[in-house]
Amino acid sequence: MSRESVSRESVSRESVFREAAPPGVCVRGGGASGVEKGEGMTDTSASEALDRAFGLIREIRDYPKPGIGFKDITPLLADPLAFGAVVDSMAEAWRGQVDVVAGIEARGFVLAAPIALALGVGFVPVRKSGKLPHETLGVEYSLEYGTAAIEMHVDAVRPDQRVLVVDDVLATGGTAAATCELVERVGARVAGVSVLLELGFLAGRDRMPGRELSALFRV
Ligand code: AMP
Repeated sequence: MSRESVSRESVSRESVFREAAPPGVCVRGGGASGVEKGEGMTDTSASEALDRAFGLIREIRDYPKPGIGFKDITPLLADPLAFGAVVDSMAEAWRGQVDVVAGIEARGFVLAAPIALALGVGFVPVRKSGKLPHETLGVEYSLEYGTAAIEMHVDAVRPDQRVLVVDDVLATGGTAAATCELVERVGARVAGVSVLLELGFLAGRDRMPGRELSALFRV
C-alpha cells in the first residue's frame, strides 16, 4: 500500500511543511494534509508520526467478505503518537470552519470525538438504525459490502450549524453521501467530509459532487 497525501486544496503535505514557522508554532491550513505540531513537536516529528500512522493501517484480506481488503485502523489507534498526529492533522484542516462534528458509527466515532474536542465544538453520533433512543431521521444507502441505514437524532444539530462529517474510510462513498443527505434533512449545513483513508480506486468522492472532501491518506 503506497501513501498519497491529498487535501481539499490539493496541497501536498510536503508543501505545508515547507511553510516557515518559528519553533513551537503550529503550522496550520493546508487542507487535510496540514499538521498541527503538538507542543515540542517539530515538522519532522509530525511528519514522521503521520508516516508511522499510515504504516499502522493494515489490510485484512477477504474480510468481511471474499474480495474485500479491509483497512484495519486498530493498530494506528493503539499508538498514541500516530493517533494524536492523525487527529491533529484532520482537525486543523477545518479549524474555524465547523460548528459540529458528526461521526459515523463505529470507527468514525473514534476519530470524530477527539477532532471535535480539538476544534472546540460538539460531537454528534450518526448511528446504525435502531440505536438512538430519541426521535430520529434516517436514510438507507448501499455499501462496498451490503446495504445499511443510518440515523441521527432530529435535534442533534441546529439549522444554522456547519457540520463536518467524519469517518475512517471512504470506499464507495455511499455512507458519507448518505450522512451528508441526513445532516441536510435534519436541517443543518454540511461544511464538508473528512476521512482518514480514501480508497481512490473506488471513486467514492464522485458520489459527492460539490462537497468539500478531505482525506488524510489515499491509496
Ligand atoms: P462506503 O459507504 O462504501 O464509502 O463505505 C465506507 C464505510 O464502510 C466506512 O464507515 C468504513 O468504515 C467502511 N468500509 C468500507 N469499505 C471498507 C474497507 N475496505 N476497509 C475498512 N472499512 C471499510
